[in-house]
Amino acid sequence: MVRISDRITVIQGDIVKLEVDAVVNAANSTLLGGGGVDGAIHRAAGQELLEECKGLKGCATGEAKITKGYFLPAKWIIHTVGPVWQGGQKGEDSLLASCYRKSLELAREYTIKTIAFPAISTGAYNFPSERAAGIAVSEIAKFLQGNGLPEKVFLVCFNKETCRNLQEAFSGVFEV
Ligand code: ADP
Repeated sequence: MVRISDRITVIQGDIVKLEVDAVVNAANSTLLGGGGVDGAIHRAAGQELLEECKGLKGCATGEAKITKGYFLPAKWIIHTVGPVWQGGQKGEDSLLASCYRKSLELAREYTIKTIAFPAISTGAYNFPSERAAGIAVSEIAKFLQGNGLPEKVFLVCFNKETCRNLQEAFSGVFEV
């Protein structure tokens, strides 16, 4: 049995370059592209991604939908809509946890073995980075405990602060 902590890795880099089965997009509810990681994914995947997304008719906050990866190295893109931070009393924590859980459920359904997440909601949506990191690591660990798929989860950080917060959350959850 592979330990849960060995199935989660924090890495720094650009998610669009990763050779994984699926990358997760921190999308907005239109699913028609935007700034940040969403813009980077749409630019790298190409116009056909937008065409497929138009047919999805949007996505609610805390939910996830899947498309093909087109020109990305990843075969699949799982689009999830994180909560906009509004002070913490509007269900933001459970909506963010739901983004991770629903994305992992889709990954399992599509027999995805390797998946990479950005730090959902911590950019334009303003969710406090440390708090978001704790939710990300604990929700992923909880899911992996009960599921063999995905086998491996990468948490991708784009800046140093996110990396530090994810590493600390990882150490906290796994007591390493
Ligand atoms: P949200 O609207 O959910 O806050 P953003 O795209 O604004 O989404 O930011 C989410 C996180 O993704 C931020 O931590 C940001 O630094 C990071 N990010 C932006 N571009 C990339 C990229 N190409 N690869 C990985 N992470 C990225």
